Amino acid sequence: MNVLIINAGSSSLKYQLMDPETGAVSAKGLCERIYIDGRLTHNANGKKVVKDIPMPTHSEAIAAVLAILVDPVDGVIKSTDEIDAVGHRVLHGGMKFSDSCIIDDACIKAIEECIPLGPLHNPANLMGIRACQAVMPNTPQVAVFDTAFHMTMPPKAYRYAIPTEYYENDDIRRYGFHGTSHKYVTKRAIELMGRKDMKLINCHLGNGSSLSAVKDGKCQDTSMGLSPLAGVPMGTRSGDIDACVVQFIMNKYGMTADECLTMLNKKSGMLALSGVSSDFRDIEQEADKGNADCALALDKFAYEVRKYIGAYAAALGGLDCLVFTAGVGENSASMRARICEGLEFLGVKLDPEKNQTRGKEAVISTDDSKVTVWVIPTNEELMIAQDTAALVNAAKAGK
Ligand code: ADP
Repeated sequence: MNVLIINAGSSSLKYQLMDPETGAVSAKGLCERIYIDGRLTHNANGKKVVKDIPMPTHSEAIAAVLAILVDPVDGVIKSTDEIDAVGHRVLHGGMKFSDSCIIDDACIKAIEECIPLGPLHNPANLMGIRACQAVMPNTPQVAVFDTAFHMTMPPKAYRYAIPTEYYENDDIRRYGFHGTSHKYVTKRAIELMGRKDMKLINCHLGNGSSLSAVKDGKCQDTSMGLSPLAGVPMGTRSGDIDACVVQFIMNKYGMTADECLTMLNKKSGMLALSGVSSDFRDIEQEADKGNADCALALDKFAYEVRKYIGAYAAALGGLDCLVFTAGVGENSASMRARICEGLEFLGVKLDPEKNQTRGKEAVISTDDSKVTVWVIPTNEELMIAQDTAALVNAAKAGK
């Protein structure tokens, strides 16, 4: 089976052609500068091709992707009929989606209704969906939501302590993001541990970072909120912050709410604290050379992640398994060590040698550690492909 995975942004579109059973990726690439001019970067058959192709809308971008997938030289399939299904990454499913869903008119309408909750991403995701429908009307399509995995949270975790009308009238609550990644690593942790009945904390630490508390395979809490701004500090996002800081800055500097939020989303976090970069590799390098601001940024990040781990262990009533994933979680032994330092009281004991692992599935705790600590590389695309295949196959079987 071939599933085409689409992640459409406002001016870009990433794609992969994947076999959901083996996870083998036969082609992947990126359309950039949509609405500006258009550039396609395509990786297949062991080579990279870059082409300037006019992309006045997402439709031309999708058409360019399909054209190169069937190209006699750079392509990997003979005809677009060989694409069995399309899986779309969609940012915000609001309260309407607790799972992936086959795209039909009702699904599109529901994604549209979630636009106020995901104003930047959902419109772009919809453009990707509509563009695919236009060029491949007979191919089944599935929407996979970044929020869906977290929909099992109980009200005490998802409700904000603000007047009820905002929840009842406006759906304002904690949703959480990176759900596809949290779902994937949860599934792998259950497979690797050989048990589902466990208390698990996932640390997705990348440019954007979030943690989730999971019991018996179901999400109980997560660090991001209504938007991805909440939780631990990130590459350029502040993470949790007292709302009065926003009021103070707006009043003193005459900023609008939007301007202030842009500052919190784009100019804060590790970038602001380090004064050097939003990229953890740069910050670690400068900290090693003695830059005190970079050292503080790393210390603050580790501290906040550690605090969330402590809070979630308390929320779950214990901890069996701790998982690190995404760019930093998979690759930075020093950050994992910093985070776990002081967590011995919870039964977390890292093995310094095993912790040197990078980018592959491995246990990094000692044999006598009460909590099993894992590095599990995330694979959101595989999760999207598997969800897509499962829904499409079930629909076919039901016919
Ligand atoms: P995104 O949220 O964009 O998907 P990623 O999950 O790819 O982000 O993570 C990107 C982050 O991972 C960057 O800050 C990068 O510096 C960091 N990273 C990648 N490799 C390493 C490494 N070897 N050591 C430290 N940080 C790393």
